Amino acid sequence: MREFGYERAFDVSGAVALLGADPDARFLGGGTNLLDLMKAGVERPALLIDVRELPLDGVELTDDGGLRIGATVTNSDLAAHPEVRRRYPALAQAVLAGASGQLRNMATVGGNLLQRTRCGYFTDLSKPCNKRAPGSGCPALTGEHHNHAILGTSEHCVATHPSDMAVALAAFDAVISYETADRPGELPIDEFYLPVGETPHIETALPAGALITGVTLPQAPVAIHSRYRKVRERASYAFAIGSIAAALDVQDDVVREVRLAYGAVASRPWRARAAEQVLIGSPASAEAFAAAADAELAAAEALPENGYKVTLMHNLVVAVLTALTEEAAR
Ligand SMILES: Cc1cc2nc3c(=O)[nH]c(=O)nc-3n(C[C@H](O)[C@H](O)[C@H](O)COP(=O)(O)OP(=O)(O)OC[C@H]3O[C@@H](n4cnc5c(N)ncnc54)[C@H](O)[C@@H]3O)c2cc1C
Ligand code: SF4
Repeated sequence: MREFGYERAFDVSGAVALLGADPDARFLGGGTNLLDLMKAGVERPALLIDVRELPLDGVELTDDGGLRIGATVTNSDLAAHPEVRRRYPALAQAVLAGASGQLRNMATVGGNLLQRTRCGYFTDLSKPCNKRAPGSGCPALTGEHHNHAILGTSEHCVATHPSDMAVALAAFDAVISYETADRPGELPIDEFYLPVGETPHIETALPAGALITGVTLPQAPVAIHSRYRKVRERASYAFAIGSIAAALDVQDDVVREVRLAYGAVASRPWRARAAEQVLIGSPASAEAFAAAADAELAAAEALPENGYKVTLMHNLVVAVLTALTEEAAR
């Protein structure tokens, strides 16, 4: 591993200035992803700027009844926060579905958003990988891809985004705030994560050198009736092979509002807007849920080993929306 320096930042402008002064510097959150990538040789920073002492560790109600979550809030604190659990239960469930207790105690909101794919070729320096070494190729297309993407893929990369938390944030229209040396800025999560296209190595629209300062969740009464469900290859401590964050408002057996986002099927958290459109005004029935699932999955492009994800996601949508409907009827 390359030798590196370490600095602790105590204010936002100081952190941004430190990063701006060294093109090889990286922000350090909990380090649960960055340090692994450094050990693998994928990341070789000259300087780590620890952001955990920044005053960004609060969760506050906003004036419109939403939530503002600081970038250094740990995943454990986020999942345990009473307002998160009450107003956005799927977010708390998503965070708790990820990693382990020890990792969640270290991992931060900012770091979770920017964690890198778990595609095995990405961390194997002996193999080509367009995400790690642009233009070198994508061995996953003809190699190991059973847990790769089926939606929004390109011939340049079929990796999935690994975050559970970000899937729930996508369902609830989160807005990511950042600070650069010049100005503060905001990006809706739909624009924060870029489509994979021809540049899989450019994953977000975050300007160079930007520090994520927080995430704002707009008020969403529908989110009170929400759930996160994750399917994985073992019961705990594993990344998703398919997941869903869903929220549903049913009145007189008709869907009035719905939010759906999928995880582990695309290079970014996948907001299922085609499915949502089919559902609004439809009866809250298994048939309508199945039709909505199919509307979204019509765009799926499976590889030889990951076609099972189409069926998996179809079944997840029907199961979770049915469970939310039954819950509302109680
Ligand atoms: C064994 C294992 C299992 C896991 N299982 C899951 C799982 O099931 N589901 C899941 O969702 N995740 C899982 N994770 C991933 C874990 O959630 C992430 O590693 C963690 O959320 C990253 O947060 P961090 O603060 O440690 O980020 P770091 O590792 O510190 O940083 C990650 C990246 O974000 C950048 N960064 C950090 N903070 C900021 C900021 N404020 N502004 C700008 N850039 C920043 C860093 O420079 C780095 O590029 C697992 C991890 C491990 C090791
Ligand atoms: S899927 Fe993406 S991350 Fe994996 S090998 Fe291909 S280019 Fe690299």
